[in-house]
Amino acid sequence: MNFFRSIKVRVWARFEIVVLAMLAFTYIFLIAMFPMFYEWMKTYEISETFVEISYNWNSEDIEKIIRKQASDKKMYIEIIFPDNTSYFVDRLGGSLSMMMISKSNFINSVNNSDSGTIYKTFRDEKEDNSILMMGSYIGSDRSNPEAYIFIFNYLQPIGTTVQIFQRQFYFVGLLMMILTIFISALFSNKISEPIIRINNSAKSLSQGKFDAKIGKRDYEEIKQLSETLTEASKEIAKSDDLRRELMSNISHDLRTPLTMIKAYAEMIRDISGDNPEKREKHLKVIIDETDRLSSLVTDILDLSKLQAGVSELNIEEFNFSDNLSGVVSRFGIIKYNEGITVDLQSEENIRISGDISKLDQVVYNLINNAVTYAGDDKKVFVKLFRKENGVVRFEVEDHGEGISPENLPYIWDMYYKVSEHSKTHKRAKMGSGIGLSIVKSVLEQHGFKYGAESSLGQGSKFWFEAPELSEKQPEEQKNTSLSLRSRKNSK
Ligand code: ADP
Repeated sequence: MNFFRSIKVRVWARFEIVVLAMLAFTYIFLIAMFPMFYEWMKTYEISETFVEISYNWNSEDIEKIIRKQASDKKMYIEIIFPDNTSYFVDRLGGSLSMMMISKSNFINSVNNSDSGTIYKTFRDEKEDNSILMMGSYIGSDRSNPEAYIFIFNYLQPIGTTVQIFQRQFYFVGLLMMILTIFISALFSNKISEPIIRINNSAKSLSQGKFDAKIGKRDYEEIKQLSETLTEASKEIAKSDDLRRELMSNISHDLRTPLTMIKAYAEMIRDISGDNPEKREKHLKVIIDETDRLSSLVTDILDLSKLQAGVSELNIEEFNFSDNLSGVVSRFGIIKYNEGITVDLQSEENIRISGDISKLDQVVYNLINNAVTYAGDDKKVFVKLFRKENGVVRFEVEDHGEGISPENLPYIWDMYYKVSEHSKTHKRAKMGSGIGLSIVKSVLEQHGFKYGAESSLGQGSKFWFEAPELSEKQPEEQKNTSLSLRSRKNSK
């Protein structure tokens, strides 16, 4: 297993990446871009103060306002009147001597500027900081201003603050990195643990074993995965068992007639060869067993062809009623041998379209099962009748021991045999569990509805439904009916 591609490592790595990204983001915004933000903020503060002062210029509280602005925002504010007197408030606390000197220069700059407002930055070497100055005039007439105003503010935070801030950030960042290494390892363990557990259990799945222990607090998806795998393992185990059983059934089924054939052939050779009566009897056994063999082999071939989708339907229109009585008559011999009667109630001239030989086989298999599992009344009821809306229904009913609700959904599966039967029904031992799979495949290929109803001890009823064709048309109308049908089909 590639360690670096494992869930554990990946979850851990992603987590780390997210934390790193967050730290980098914080660093960029808080540390790297801090001076820039600070500068913007200060510039904004200065213009805000200017607006505030010029707005309240005529107010009685103007001095109070100037003082408040200066101390709130730690500024130096100076007002210079046209007669050169000045008023200033210094809350900056820096060394401002040079600004005092160049006062008249500033006034000139304001007068000469386009907008009447100037911004200048100075270096305050002592404080190792830059100072931003805004100068403008107060009053509505530029050529005759009421006063000039100059506001000074430091542009950068006091050096040590930033340094403390940075160191703190490095420390916290490092701490977070170390913490997240452990926390994310813990997380990734927690996330991957049930998956690893399920994976380990799933390794034994191919043997049909799956016993992952799912905790109450596991993720819903993991629970579902486990359920799916449990289902899958059951299915695998079942089909594995069925396959094994089929193999033993088929080998048994093949061996029994072969043994009989050999034994009777030897008997004819050694004993009954000269006795025509006995020879006939023995030969009949050989022929019957050969028939059984060949029908078993045909069944297996048919089913594999049907399931491989190789066999195509040979669709024809035919008289189902007639066909049905033909098939039922083949059970006459059983009536004779075992006293089981097949009671046929069929409406006449029911025509359907389908593959005659395959549908015959369906009908045969269903009746054969009913005969095989017939109850003590030794009666099997076969019905064919018209239902509403042009649908015809075929039913086979017996009063045998029935099929339990747990087994009912599975009887259509290939190789499926309800095991209890074989103990009670002598004839059931002959089954291979293929008959109903053929029925299912053929009926599904035709698109016919089908089903089985059964309850234990009551018997079973198997049925299917097909659309009835309209009455056979006289010769001259054949064309129209054909075109009608092809139009229907092309829908
Ligand atoms: P088989 O060759 O064993 O009869 P099928 O596929 O025809 O195989 O039937 C599958 C299983 O369904 C049978 O083994 C039997 O247990 C059950 N079954 C089918 N038909 C009936 C029925 N009429 N009554 C009771 N059980 C039935």
